[in-house]
Amino acid sequence: MKSSAFLKSILHPIETTFALADVLTFIKRKKTCTLGLKKGGKRFQPYNYHFACESCNFFYMTVEVEVAQNSTFCPGVERAIKIVEGELSGSRKTIYTVGPIIHNPEVVKRLESLGLKVLDPDAQPLSNLEGATVIVRSHGIDLATENKLKETGALIVDATCQNVKRAQKAAKELEDEGFHLIIVGSANHPEVVSILGRLDKEATVIENPEQAIKWINENQGILEKLGVVAQTTISRDLLQSVVDSLRGKCKEMKVRDTRCESVTRRQNEALEMCRRVDLMVVVGGLNSSNTARLADLCRKTSMKTVHVEDPKEIDKETISGAKRIGVIGGASTPDWQIEDTVSKIKSLVSG
Ligand code: SF4
Repeated sequence: MKSSAFLKSILHPIETTFALADVLTFIKRKKTCTLGLKKGGKRFQPYNYHFACESCNFFYMTVEVEVAQNSTFCPGVERAIKIVEGELSGSRKTIYTVGPIIHNPEVVKRLESLGLKVLDPDAQPLSNLEGATVIVRSHGIDLATENKLKETGALIVDATCQNVKRAQKAAKELEDEGFHLIIVGSANHPEVVSILGRLDKEATVIENPEQAIKWINENQGILEKLGVVAQTTISRDLLQSVVDSLRGKCKEMKVRDTRCESVTRRQNEALEMCRRVDLMVVVGGLNSSNTARLADLCRKTSMKTVHVEDPKEIDKETISGAKRIGVIGGASTPDWQIEDTVSKIKSLVSG
């Protein structure tokens, strides 16, 4: 009898559930469990896609983990972090950022342990900061806060991402051309606040097409000329759906697509991965808007998706039944959190 046929004969009834290669790997790794492979053997139980041996508690599961190429810091965040680290190294000055430098609590904690302090101008008025350095994060700041910072006497280092600056500039240009400005994005996000806070006139923030329709019905008077920009991290579909809702409802509309290419690449890769895997693990701060959008995008494809801030949140239940797991991080997720996530999954898989 050929060896593969022989193996198949002793693997019944699990041969239909598991690939032969998986079982061979199992035998190689835990020879003592081969007895359980006997026909009708009771010690070897298939459960989802893992083997569990009752006699020695060995747990083996075959799972492929695919890590997205666009998984860690985007260029804007990488630059901001480098600026902070550069200012912290060897400086005797107190270094502040306006708000957390990125939406990733673990990274912020690490930088705080190196001496970084976080200012919250909404919670406490800016006082004298003579001799200190204040770093403006990648999301940028509104003009009023920038002016207040200048009055503190601090040295201001601007780490605003170039893409955010481009969105701020596009918004101002549309306003100057006489358009009522619409920003598609989240009203409370610091980037949107920074765009709004650089305009002379009132603008409108719209988060989804439903809001767009409601706004149209309530604001017939200002629908002559509409200028649209996007928060850099929104998806193409969201921008398109809001633009579609506004189209035809005003005399003139101009759209400046200010979405970030790096985010678009990441979102496209996540969507591609959703075709190949059966579980997506999205890693990044729960307060990170782009990471939350990434997870939402995956969920919209009906993919089982978990958004974790810390790999410790992943347990056997999370990955139960998954044969191919995709791992992707948000724009503010460091590579070590991706590595920790993969290690955690592997440790759960091999018991
Ligand atoms: S996500 Fe894009 S826009 Fe935002 S900081 Fe990164 S590179 Fe800049």
